[in-house]
Amino acid sequence: MVCEIVTIGDELLIGQVLNTNQAFIAEKLNSIGIDVGRMTTVGDSSASILQAFEEGMQRADIVIVTGGLGPTHDDITKKAAARFFDSELAPNPELRTRIEEIMQTRNIAWTQAAEEQTMFPKNASIVKNPIGTAAGMLFSQGEKPFIILPGVPYEMEAMMEQSVIPLLAPLVHGSVIRHHTLRSSGIPESILAQKIGPLEEILDGAALAFLPSAAGVRMRITVHAGDEPSASQKIQQVEKRLLEKVGRYVYGTGNDELEQVVGRLLADRHLTISVAESCTGGALADRITNVSGSSAYFERGVVVYSNRSKTQILGVPDELIQLHGAVSKEVAQAMASGIRSVAGTDIGVSTTGIAGPTGGSPEKPVGLVWIGYSDRSATLAIKFNFGQFRLNTKNRATQATLELVRRKLLQID
Ligand code: ATP
Ligand code: MG
Repeated sequence: MVCEIVTIGDELLIGQVLNTNQAFIAEKLNSIGIDVGRMTTVGDSSASILQAFEEGMQRADIVIVTGGLGPTHDDITKKAAARFFDSELAPNPELRTRIEEIMQTRNIAWTQAAEEQTMFPKNASIVKNPIGTAAGMLFSQGEKPFIILPGVPYEMEAMMEQSVIPLLAPLVHGSVIRHHTLRSSGIPESILAQKIGPLEEILDGAALAFLPSAAGVRMRITVHAGDEPSASQKIQQVEKRLLEKVGRYVYGTGNDELEQVVGRLLADRHLTISVAESCTGGALADRITNVSGSSAYFERGVVVYSNRSKTQILGVPDELIQLHGAVSKEVAQAMASGIRSVAGTDIGVSTTGIAGPTGGSPEKPVGLVWIGYSDRSATLAIKFNFGQFRLNTKNRATQATLELVRRKLLQID
């Protein structure tokens, strides 16, 4: 069963509003085993709306439309739908009662716009809107459900969950689609793919997508199955085979964040950590403290941007900075062991680098970052190059530092 999603609104086409409606709808449909074959976005023009309706109805088994259901002059979806389904707009008593109630509760006077909202296509049925005044519409011409919802995301979302999904679920027998995501860090997509090797055997009919970002590469497994238990069994099988190959790079699944994973590892081991940040400018402490309960293991973070602060706060010898430069293995190590001893924590980590775009040299190019790590048995520093984009470098250095701590805690080399 294939659905097409049509989203309507000039604001989507000019990039002013991010089209979150189509992502939300697609995810909900997938969860009940309906594939989305195409997503179309058109502006507030009658001709393009009608064309999108026509094409959607030709290609798909189900069409879901959002946007332009309201009472303002640019909301023309209702009129377009009435025309498309050869229907007349007529006053709808049920809607009038509902809108009167809402307006009374909100203490708003009756207007021409409200009057507009009570008009409804004769051959459509109402998809109830539990939040706003614009009702959704269901046309069931020729067996194909054609559903129109308001554009306002929270209204659309409530209607999808409460009305549309329960309506569509019985149409799909014996089919579910499940996605499961593994999150990796510290390894490029190409090397990850190489380490996984030939996919047919591992996937055995499932699909795998690599989704790279500054935080690492996500691997999304997609499975079509007859029912929920066989889908989750299939996902577990594929996950197990992938972990056998690249498990050491995988820090979590779904929406797991690396700082949560590291936080859990520290808490479980009753270890504490402190951070000394130069090029990440506090981003690392920010990430660590995003986790509720981080006070159990996070002692402090300092931003030591100048050479003077590295010496004054962490006791990094001035001579060391003069000899090797602030962005060096030696200084990264001295910063990590310095913060560890000042804070009295089990682990100290540090970042020092050239975030750019200025300040690079042939020996120390923009993007060079040294990450230091110190615990009671060892102090070390690792060199990275994160490229020429300043904020990207800060993000990636933060992620790499957390990943380094994770690997140390799990004794992964
Ligand atoms: P209303 O009755 O509130 O006017 P409507 O159906 O007319 O509802 P629109 O006017 O199309 O809805 O959009 C209302 C708001 O919803 C827009 O300002 C926009 O911020 C948001 N919106 C519309 N479409 C989308 C979309 N596809 N994704 C995310 N947000 C959207
Ligand atoms: Mg509107």
